[in-house]
Amino acid sequence: AALVQKVQNCLKEEAWIKNPSVEVFLAALRRRLDACVDGKLANAVTNIHVKREDKSRNLDREFYEKKLPELCKNLQRMTMPVFNQMLPDLIKAVMQEMSSVPDENCRPRCEARCPACGSICYHAKGHSAAKHNTIHQPAGLAGHKWFRKIALVERSCLQCLETAVRMVREDGARVIPFSEFDKEYPEWDMPTSNEASAIQMREWIFFRYQRELVDYFNARRAGQKFGPAENMPTAYNHDRAQLQARLHNTLRPKFPNEDAWTQFIQLLKTF
Ligand SMILES: [Zn+2]
Ligand SMILES: [Zn+2]
Ligand SMILES: [Zn+2]
Repeated sequence: AALVQKVQNCLKEEAWIKNPSVEVFLAALRRRLDACVDGKLANAVTNIHVKREDKSRNLDREFYEKKLPELCKNLQRMTMPVFNQMLPDLIKAVMQEMSSVPDENCRPRCEARCPACGSICYHAKGHSAAKHNTIHQPAGLAGHKWFRKIALVERSCLQCLETAVRMVREDGARVIPFSEFDKEYPEWDMPTSNEASAIQMREWIFFRYQRELVDYFNARRAGQKFGPAENMPTAYNHDRAQLQARLHNTLRPKFPNEDAWTQFIQLLKTF
């Protein structure tokens, strides 16, 4: 933890905060790592030095496309058991640090979940938007059942709103129409029909993995009984190849080259 603190302090180098360019950042980081942490780490950073005459080019692009992968390769080649041990702490520290950057796109995501369907808020952590919002999912994915039944709820909050479903709270003591969703949950925006296609993957998972979901909730929520959805919409059985293609088209452009993309896919497979 002390080492994490040290690396973090290196990232707070004044020169870099005053003049935030990749070049200044790297130079400062190299100097600080060498002085306060570990010469090996500093050497790794030396390899990603960006030359002054490269200024005319897009330095950020240069950095992310070429230098950063180089740095990662160098870091991997080193035997740094201490570094590996502190990685979880370091990741936590970086997330913490990133939580307060002004650009909301760069922050970790808000962690609030819709109280009615469990879908996670799509805004940034500490967002400027007054209320949480999400693309609501089939509520059964979060283990919600129809009142006095064991069947998982196949509808999303938006569908519940559109079909005038009422939510039952406190074991039947209160019944609230979904049209009062934003009164019941004042921290949340009313469900709206934006990006309908974004929820198709969740619908497909709900359709395809009913048995697994039922087993999952039965195993984890003692004293409750869960069963499969009774009115599963066949529309949830989306075409897998189409979903896959859409996901690919959304994500692939965010990666600078095939190598980075392959690395990402491999990382996903480790979860
Ligand atoms: Zn940004
Ligand atoms: Zn919801
Ligand atoms: Zn939120």
